[in-house]
Amino acid sequence: MLARKSIYTLRETHLSPSLSLSYNEPLHIVKGEGQYLYDAEGYQYLDAVNNIQHVGHCHPKVVAAAQLQYEKLNINTRYLDETIVNYAQKLTDKMPAGLDVCFFTNSGSEANDLALRIARHVTQSKETIVLDAAYHGNLSSLIEISPYKHNGKGGSGAPDFVHTVPMPDSFRGKYRGKDSGTAYANEVQILLDEIQESGKQVSVFIAESLMGCGGQLVPPQGFLKESFQKVRKAGGLCIADEVQIGFGRMGDHFWGFETQDIVPDIVTMGKPMGNGHPLSAVVTTKAIADEFNNGMEYFNSFGGNPVSCAVGHAVLNVIEDEGLQQNAKDVGKYLKSLLNELKEKYSMIGDVRGHGLFLGIELVRDLESLDPADKEAYQIENAMKEKGILISTDGPDHNILKIKPPLVFNRENALFLAETLDEILS
Ligand code: PMP
Repeated sequence: MLARKSIYTLRETHLSPSLSLSYNEPLHIVKGEGQYLYDAEGYQYLDAVNNIQHVGHCHPKVVAAAQLQYEKLNINTRYLDETIVNYAQKLTDKMPAGLDVCFFTNSGSEANDLALRIARHVTQSKETIVLDAAYHGNLSSLIEISPYKHNGKGGSGAPDFVHTVPMPDSFRGKYRGKDSGTAYANEVQILLDEIQESGKQVSVFIAESLMGCGGQLVPPQGFLKESFQKVRKAGGLCIADEVQIGFGRMGDHFWGFETQDIVPDIVTMGKPMGNGHPLSAVVTTKAIADEFNNGMEYFNSFGGNPVSCAVGHAVLNVIEDEGLQQNAKDVGKYLKSLLNELKEKYSMIGDVRGHGLFLGIELVRDLESLDPADKEAYQIENAMKEKGILISTDGPDHNILKIKPPLVFNRENALFLAETLDEILS
């Protein structure tokens, strides 16, 4: 096994310098199992951050499904193949009626890029409404619509067809309190009016129903519902980006958009879908898919290959067989209650939020100014790691502790996390 220092040197020499490493002392992880990761010295970490390995690291049933299909056949989608249709049927069974048609892709970015292309074709427009601080992917088309990137380091701002709604942050945002949904939706209306006044037509509104990179932000109830109504009235389509939050993580619901009582025109998904295998999708209605079918073939060399579909199918089976959505609900509720107890104890915790096993803790310097405690968040993230628990920080001010573990996370893990955080905060 290469020593940690050699890996570091080779990385510096041969990998893109734009890549980053987590933690002040990067980890050399060599093994994963369930909700645990192990470093080269055999030290065990409780993984409370890697939501991609949704049903647990290296789940044996997912690994077996991949291996079995790999030994038999792996080919593109231009042949009749039962793995893809069986999987598409199973996946769309999880969707509200009408969202029946799948396009398979290989990353969340690819799914979002395709979703935009579909929307632009259908509406014959590019005018896009996005949430401030949102992240939708690493492709050029998505940096353009991701304020998290184009307004961040190295970014060059939004192009003129991108219209940005203030982040629907009811804790520290432009409008506050749980009844601020309508005020934020009115901001969407302002943008729609501006688009119309400039003689253009809205194409699409894209949003996560619970913002990930935006800081585990739960929008105030009604915001998305009212925004969808306004966008549709103006002739636009609505995309729900489920890349972070889909597949049962919300606990009460299988999809994030269900927590907001909305039905999108187009849904994009990725990360947890293949438990780490590159698999993503766009799901939409037959009518929209038919309209997009303008003669230009949609072909994707890897998207929808039998191995990916076998993996995706196994992930859905494991979620069901092991009751992982219910577990996300139960353990998430328990963990949130423990974190709320800490909120009573420490004024640095301004807000505890999220659904199921997608939780955020907003750290502030004091409860009056709500000054973001970014350096403190980074210190806590590293101190947690020293104590064997992996979490991360995010949000536009880098002051949110993010918790989004594999869904096999149990009550004992939740208690360990809360007790360790208590110890560090004290
Ligand atoms: N959408 C959201 C909400 C994401 O969080 C991400 C990745 N962090 C993406 C899209 C892009 O997914 P990928 O990295 O698989 O391209």
